[in-house]
Amino acid sequence: MQLDTSSVTFLLATCAYLGIRGHFKRKLAGATATVSRSSPADRALVGLVVAGQIVLPLLALFTPWLDGARYTPMTPVLAWAGALLMAAGVWLFWRSHADLGDNWSVTLEVRRDHVLVDSGVYRTIRHPMYASFFLMAIGQALLLHDWVAGPAALLAVTVLYVARKPHEEAMLVEQFGDAYRTYMDSTGGIVPRRRARGVAARGN
Ligand code: SAH
Repeated sequence: MQLDTSSVTFLLATCAYLGIRGHFKRKLAGATATVSRSSPADRALVGLVVAGQIVLPLLALFTPWLDGARYTPMTPVLAWAGALLMAAGVWLFWRSHADLGDNWSVTLEVRRDHVLVDSGVYRTIRHPMYASFFLMAIGQALLLHDWVAGPAALLAVTVLYVARKPHEEAMLVEQFGDAYRTYMDSTGGIVPRRRARGVAARGN
């Protein structure tokens, strides 16, 4: 096995990502949830993302198992774009953790003293953490020259977003009522959008 610059860039960004997650996980250890929508299906989604972001890349980089899926990149420009996207994704992942603070959880939960966060990176997007997963996943696809491990995270994150978003938003509507509905009206899901509160027409 030989690690090229793209693979090393991917590994460094992934270490930063895991370091950020570990830091916030330790900070919130022992926090109490008052509502939990954690289900086998939701935990399976988390497992799918871990497989796409970590397990398959490690198999591709450190074992011969995926050697048949390797390809030679056409131009180094794509790797540069991948590095920039990964860096942007790691930054957004850190900011969304920092801004969500004590309200974060791996699965779908409402914490005791949960507050609706609509500031920082949550001002224009409702799901900046999932947006950061998309940025890192596209970066991964460009940095890992492997037809299986490269796009694996993008596929997993798309499934997570499509399957989880409606349940997460329904849970937050139950918890915060009109405050969350208004927030939904004035923000984008993973693409930034800002509409003046009160002016936003429901159902548009
Ligand atoms: N979907 C968000 C958060 C992911 S973490 C993102 O992509 O950034 C999942 C937890 O965050 C959920 O259990 C939910 O309780 C909480 N959450 C999501 N959006 C929130 C918000 N705007 N304010 C407070 N908590 C929120």
